[in-house]
Amino acid sequence: MKVGVLALQGAFDRHAQALSLAGAAPLEVRGSQYLEEIDALVIPGGESTTMMKLAESLNVRKRLMERIEDGLPVLGTCAGMILLSKEIFDGRDDQHPFGSIDIGVRRNGYGRQLNSFEEDLEINDFDTPFRGVFIRAPLVERIGNNVEVLASVEGHPVFCREGKIMVTSFHPELVDDDRVHRLFLETAFASN
Ligand code: GLN
Repeated sequence: MKVGVLALQGAFDRHAQALSLAGAAPLEVRGSQYLEEIDALVIPGGESTTMMKLAESLNVRKRLMERIEDGLPVLGTCAGMILLSKEIFDGRDDQHPFGSIDIGVRRNGYGRQLNSFEEDLEINDFDTPFRGVFIRAPLVERIGNNVEVLASVEGHPVFCREGKIMVTSFHPELVDDDRVHRLFLETAFASN
């Protein structure tokens, strides 16, 4: 299965490595033409404002939103979560997220002191904790009824799934543990 990693900006190469380990064939998506070749996509962390602008100017946004509407499975991490969300609280006026998962997020919502932190996460279906690395992470402040919460930190979801869209506010690609990527591939290619 060919799994794209959106490679417009941000931390995409570690995702490609994790996907290879998990058994997929990664492809760096650098423009809209690559979107025709992929069976699933990872949107990495980075700077959501820049990533959104690039997606717009490189004509990736429109075609990507069509493919998501047609069922393309997507994993969005950190800035990727922001792009896939329905609402951005205190985002900039020119930031229009894709609206692919019914959550509302606050950019850098963990505050200055907690800019970056690590936390052992209890994730549904994982036997042992997963080390969550949070870097200027978005805070999930609202979730829709159909959104499944797979892990939380202090009452705030940090790992959510709705259909074949999965989002994490942490960076699963930065640890030596490919269970989140494996779970994404299972979700993406489950026969339902
Ligand atoms: N704070 C960044 C943003 O708002 C996200 C940080 C990250 O992806 N590590 O885009």
